[in-house]
Amino acid sequence: MLIDGETRLLTLIGDPVAHSRSPFIHNTALQHQGHNMVYVTTRVREGDVREAVAGLRALHVAGANVTIPHKEAVLPFLDEVHPRAQAVGAVNTIVAEPNRTLRGDNTDVVGFLEPLAPYRAALQGASVIILGAGGAARAAAYALLTTFGLERLTLAARRPHQAEQLAAHLAPHDAGDALHVVPLGSAERLVRRAKLVVNATPVGMHPRTDATPWPAPGDFTAEHLVYDLIYNPRETRLLREAAAQGATAIGGLGMLIGQAAAAYAQWTGTAMPVEVVREALRTS
Ligand code: NAP
Repeated sequence: MLIDGETRLLTLIGDPVAHSRSPFIHNTALQHQGHNMVYVTTRVREGDVREAVAGLRALHVAGANVTIPHKEAVLPFLDEVHPRAQAVGAVNTIVAEPNRTLRGDNTDVVGFLEPLAPYRAALQGASVIILGAGGAARAAAYALLTTFGLERLTLAARRPHQAEQLAAHLAPHDAGDALHVVPLGSAERLVRRAKLVVNATPVGMHPRTDATPWPAPGDFTAEHLVYDLIYNPRETRLLREAAAQGATAIGGLGMLIGQAAAAYAQWTGTAMPVEVVREALRTS
């Protein structure tokens, strides 16, 4: 793709950003579809978020992604925020309208649900447990609460206070009183009876691939769906051990591509060629 005087800018703001797969994903799709846009990363320090958002507006960028540690901090500086981003309390995508309005969204919610589509029926009325209570757990819990009529949604965190805060924040979306909190160390019974176990901790992520957030794989059976949000490595120790017990293992790559696709569609007006992106990631 030739960058010229008409090329529109997309950027990722966060700190750090150098490790991000987003430029590869989006530039692969943009080039494939011939959009005259380019996606770059911009390192924005804490305290510079207001200026960074004003800069997006002044520079007429087409859109942006937002990553750690700015997902919450950007909210007050945007003109509009999608209800799902408002509910999660975090924005990962900014769409610039032609009239310079900046609209915030949280496409992690859509991305999280993408790999669960084949299991929709099995998840109705099911019991689900999320390990961890950080940013990814927030999006996952909101997505689960608003999509499936769960019998129980347990947040298991090593600091139960963090999970209590998340549960309190999501209470308005918990019409069925499904949300509960347990300390991670007391979650054994709930893991055993869960239909879906979600790892929303970074335990097992590169380079510490020998770690697992659930060192008791005997708790998994062929009835379990085990979904690790980690995408590097593709197959974590958690997923390997769960699959060895007959469980269905779901990696984080589908969510990564799903959240990117939901942002891309809003920036470009076209659906992301996800198979092209998936293949490019596989061979990169
Ligand atoms: P985060 O906001 O830092 O939250 C991490 C959570 O895990 C916190 O509750 C944290 O508890 C807990 N945790 C960390 N180390 C732990 C340990 N050793 N034992 C038990 N709990 C531990 O991070 P995040 O943004 O939610 O990301 C979590 C994971 O999801 C990362 O691996 C990230 O790559 C992945 N993710 C994937 C996607 C995707 O598209 N596939 C999107 C977002 C995130 P403390 O607060 O006590 O440390």
